[in-house]
Amino acid sequence: GDGGRRRGGWDSGRGEAEKDPFAEAEKTNKDADDLFAGENTGINFDAYEDIPVEATGNEVPEPIAAFQDIDMGKELMENVRRCKYTKPTPVQRYSIPIGMAGRDLMACAQTGSGKTAAFCFPIIASALRAGFQPGPRGRKVFPIALVLSPTRELSSQIYDEARKFCYQTGIRPVVVYGGAPPGQQLRELER
Ligand code: AMP
Repeated sequence: GDGGRRRGGWDSGRGEAEKDPFAEAEKTNKDADDLFAGENTGINFDAYEDIPVEATGNEVPEPIAAFQDIDMGKELMENVRRCKYTKPTPVQRYSIPIGMAGRDLMACAQTGSGKTAAFCFPIIASALRAGFQPGPRGRKVFPIALVLSPTRELSSQIYDEARKFCYQTGIRPVVVYGGAPPGQQLRELER
């Protein structure tokens, strides 16, 4: 079976329950510390803690030391807890307050440094703060955010992470890429 990892989203029809993206990890990893053992791309976050960060720009917002230092909304904080992220990575410490301030951001950091959350958290938190509401049935829907990535594999990885971050927020991530039949992707987008 596909074990709930069917590409393209969680509600094949309106009103169907959102699939829990954490269920699989919780089933296979009894120990909380193992949760990211298979997923982490190799960075030891504790060793990475003091990596120098250079932030340039006009009146750059102050970095945060903890996720609790900034109001990202209780739904997102609940997902941070479910992801077992205890503290922000260096790129997250800087990017989250910049994104939350509505500022433009270009961020470079090595593979596995938490860039996906660094960009997704302020997008999700800002949408929640703006009082995003799912549209009524039958109404045309439109994206509130667009994430572009250079490869299908990276798009899929971002989508899988975004599903965890958006769980029970009412925000619905959808992934679209070339080389797959467009019909279902179009239907997912329409939802
Ligand atoms: P990324 O660089 O976005 O691909 O993230 C690399 C890995 O680190 C992924 O498995 C993330 O789920 C994980 N991760 C991201 N942010 C944190 C954090 N603050 N604490 C622990 N793990 C994290």
